[in-house]
Amino acid sequence: MSYSTTSLPTATLRIGAEWVETAETDTIRLPYDGTPVATAARGTLELLGRAITAARAAAPAMAALANYERAELLERIAANVRRDAAEFAQLISQETGRPIQEARGEVDRGLATLAASAAVARDLHGEVIPLDAVAAGAGHLAITVREPVGVIGIITPFNVPFNLTLHKLGPALAGGNAVVHKPSEQTPLSAWRLARAVEEAGAPAGAYNIVNGLGREIGAALVESDGVDMITFTGSVPTGEWIRAHAGLKKVTLELGGNSAVIVEPDADLDTAIPRLVQGGYAHSGQLCISVQRVYAHASIVKAVTERLVAAVEKLKLGHPSETSTAVSSLISEAAATRVEQWTRDAVERGGKLLTGGVRHGSTITPGVLAEVPPSARLMQQELFGPLVAVNAYERIDDAVAAVNSTPYGLQAGVFTQHLQRAFALARKLHVGGVLINDVPTFRSDPMPYGGVKRSGIGREGPKYAIEEMTEPKLIVWRV
Ligand code: NAD
Repeated sequence: MSYSTTSLPTATLRIGAEWVETAETDTIRLPYDGTPVATAARGTLELLGRAITAARAAAPAMAALANYERAELLERIAANVRRDAAEFAQLISQETGRPIQEARGEVDRGLATLAASAAVARDLHGEVIPLDAVAAGAGHLAITVREPVGVIGIITPFNVPFNLTLHKLGPALAGGNAVVHKPSEQTPLSAWRLARAVEEAGAPAGAYNIVNGLGREIGAALVESDGVDMITFTGSVPTGEWIRAHAGLKKVTLELGGNSAVIVEPDADLDTAIPRLVQGGYAHSGQLCISVQRVYAHASIVKAVTERLVAAVEKLKLGHPSETSTAVSSLISEAAATRVEQWTRDAVERGGKLLTGGVRHGSTITPGVLAEVPPSARLMQQELFGPLVAVNAYERIDDAVAAVNSTPYGLQAGVFTQHLQRAFALARKLHVGGVLINDVPTFRSDPMPYGGVKRSGIGREGPKYAIEEMTEPKLIVWRV
């Protein structure tokens, strides 16, 4: 760690065994009120090249680590994060504006991701292949072993900067890879601090390199580099499309946007559903890729759902992210809040009813609920990334299914009903990566395969699934 003349911490680059400062820096500000919290070194193409060279040099050392050694490395990283958990939470809160209680939760989630990554490192194995299943294979025996892909380029978004980094770094190290990471230019602090935890854990120099900088410059060059074997990206659809088009023959996994929906059937237990909808719709001001954005409630209960949701949402305390009582704080920037305000206005102009909230002050938006929003409104089709939920009524369940499936996204969806048969039937009809029965789509835990269909992405995360993408099956055949 180093300090600039204004005594703000500087998030340096991490290249091989060096912490690198740069002539140009960016000021990282608390999104809530613009207070400067740190400066960040701004990487150059030359420094990115050095980081890729460092990763290439580290790749053989990472590949040579035994499964148990990779697992123990991840466990030591976790121990360092646990020791400094309060500092990590503060950095996450400062760079994103996420309420401190949620930021602490993100650190806990990161620890779980590291533990799951250590477990998959120990368990990494290939398979025995029955070649004699066909005549041509008789007299041959085959196994596969999992080998690292080599150097993995990680590109992460602003919203969950610590845990999404670990969802990539954990399985990458577990698979024996070296990494070059381009964090979001808005939120580079927790990843930079993580690099110290990795260094202190005794990782081979160059196993985890960080180059901050602009996406269209540093991120794009990472994607196009011949020195990188795979890109794992989480972020928006337009960036994901650009990456897919420019990555050449590299492996690419994309975790992209969503506009998640929930169906609430007439027999749903609203005592369960309402608190979960509040959690799913307003945590991190709705800036989660699986935030609840659309609720389809049966016409017989839609009044109860909206009234109870409005009452619960009006109790959410909006405030400074450092206060433990704050439930909802700012969006990532005033520009983001202005866009959410415009989309809310668009929904109202098209006939939607704003029942509560939706008012912007600087970079904050008061938690809101909309009703009767027509499908043509932008927030019914696109990703809002703001603290508002639209509740619409349906008469026939097939209409609700069609509405859920009608958007370009397909990350996760939720269904609240006590009718087991109907729940499973609905789960099969919803075109998404995962369906949550009696829970919100915002639920995620590390053992599960996580990812989307349609424009929500390609590939699955969760360490068990990510490590499959981050290793190759090497085939070994004996003639016996
Ligand atoms: P973004 O696409 O603007 O930026 C993401 C990252 O890509 C940043 O590091 C950025 O610098 C970089 N980047 C930008 N242009 C690039 C280019 N041409 N080449 C390479 N890198 C480039 O996304 P954001 O606004 O930071 O994050 C919000 C988005 O992330 C939302 O759409 C959200 O749904 C999505 N997200 C998805 C998941 C998931 O798991 N599916 C999780 C969290 C966030």
